[in-house]
Amino acid sequence: MASEKIRLSGKEIYELLSSVISISSNDFAPLFAKKLNAGPFSVLVSIILTQNTTERNALKAFKNLFEATKLNPQRVLSLGIRELSKIIRVAGLSMQKSGAILRLSSYVIEKGEGYLLSEDPAKLREELISIPGIGEKTADVFLSLYRKYPVFPVDTHIKRIAIRWGLVDKKSSYKEISSILLDFFGPSISDKAHRLMIAFGRTYCRSKDPRCWECPLKKVCPHAQI
Ligand code: SF4
Repeated sequence: MASEKIRLSGKEIYELLSSVISISSNDFAPLFAKKLNAGPFSVLVSIILTQNTTERNALKAFKNLFEATKLNPQRVLSLGIRELSKIIRVAGLSMQKSGAILRLSSYVIEKGEGYLLSEDPAKLREELISIPGIGEKTADVFLSLYRKYPVFPVDTHIKRIAIRWGLVDKKSSYKEISSILLDFFGPSISDKAHRLMIAFGRTYCRSKDPRCWECPLKKVCPHAQI
């Protein structure tokens, strides 16, 4: 564990970052999908589409698929892998993502879409991550955003920032980072804090050339390069 930690609480950081970063549904495909009110299946699909690509491309792919199928699981399944991969190509890794989306479609058709809302979240998480192409992060983004389940999804932005804040180290596992950040921010704001950290990682705390000189946390961050 890093020896020096950021000298603010999670709540103080959340408030500070919220005052300088605004989050729009166009910045996060899952937020856009949720706002569209097309159901939990559509939100899970949008999260799969965001894997290893920009939100912009994930959003384009999501809109293409929505236009073609209205995100009805039966209609998505009936596309088959080739047609589906053409529709979502802009999001990259289209064959892999199509495979995951088709497996998810079969699962949702078998269980019924309402199952995603009613099943015990811990059990649902286990079932979702047993579907090839759906990992812990994908399941946690869904459970946090749609079910308000207390989990903190961890992506590369979040891991990098948590290391720079001295909360975790490079060897920390997904589970350790997720649990530490959930405690750090607290469950009531963890879902929003997760998106705020990603937006912060895209703007200020970038992988290369972090903008420490103008970062709102520069006076309290142990990693500040100023
Ligand atoms: S001061 Fe630099 S390293 Fe620390 S949070 Fe800000 S941008 Fe990241």
